[in-house]
Amino acid sequence: MIELRTPAEIEQMRPAGRFVAEVLATLREETKVGTNLLALDRRAHDMIRRAGAESCYIDYHPSFGASPFGKVICTSINDAVLHGLPFDYALRDGDLVTLDFAASVDGWVADSAVSFVVGTPRDEDLALIDTTERALDAAIAAATVGNRIGDISAAIAAVARGEGLSINTDFGGHGVGRIMHGDPHVPNDGRPGRGFPLKPGLVIAIEPWFLQTTDELITDPDGWTLRSADGSRGAHSEHTIAITEDGPIVLTDRAGL
Ligand code: MG
Repeated sequence: MIELRTPAEIEQMRPAGRFVAEVLATLREETKVGTNLLALDRRAHDMIRRAGAESCYIDYHPSFGASPFGKVICTSINDAVLHGLPFDYALRDGDLVTLDFAASVDGWVADSAVSFVVGTPRDEDLALIDTTERALDAAIAAATVGNRIGDISAAIAAVARGEGLSINTDFGGHGVGRIMHGDPHVPNDGRPGRGFPLKPGLVIAIEPWFLQTTDELITDPDGWTLRSADGSRGAHSEHTIAITEDGPIVLTDRAGL
């Protein structure tokens, strides 16, 4: 079921968006060569406790998950791109890091992800990150009343195809509200003018993610982490946005943080 939020409810969702943005901005700032992924998870857990927020991940146990996730942040490194389960690993020079974080504040969820490189970057990694960010920007620009979900999907796909990337539509964006994953599904490819009409009050996470030379994923033995089938690297950009008569509001905006 697709739920629409009143302007007052969208205001109530802002603290969740701000908190998720603050956690990602803080972790990004603090993540260096040598940082352990488990320390990042502990840091995020600490921030959750101090803010009185709730993790959306720790008890998360969907049909495809091997067991409850058990951590509060996803850390996907290099050829891992989605659902990376933090493990005892100290980041190395040039690692491509994706942090994906969702939390609930005052009963409302926000969900966001960012990719970046620690230490000395490879040009192709920076280009891939830039593509996911441009795809997200294009998708947000298309998230206007009168458009449809397919317009968002097509905007993402156009940026990816412009860079010669292929697109996996198994995992994409989703409705966000009292729970992390709601309707509608927001695929990273689609046809303009198709799908659910974008109405004021629709709150969705948009999350383009791409791999350098494949669209095929394999699941790690940990039961969670999704890696490229060919070992090429992945990047992921995600924001939670509210569609309003005045245009999209990026609830998880990190600008200025
Ligand atoms: Mg997310």
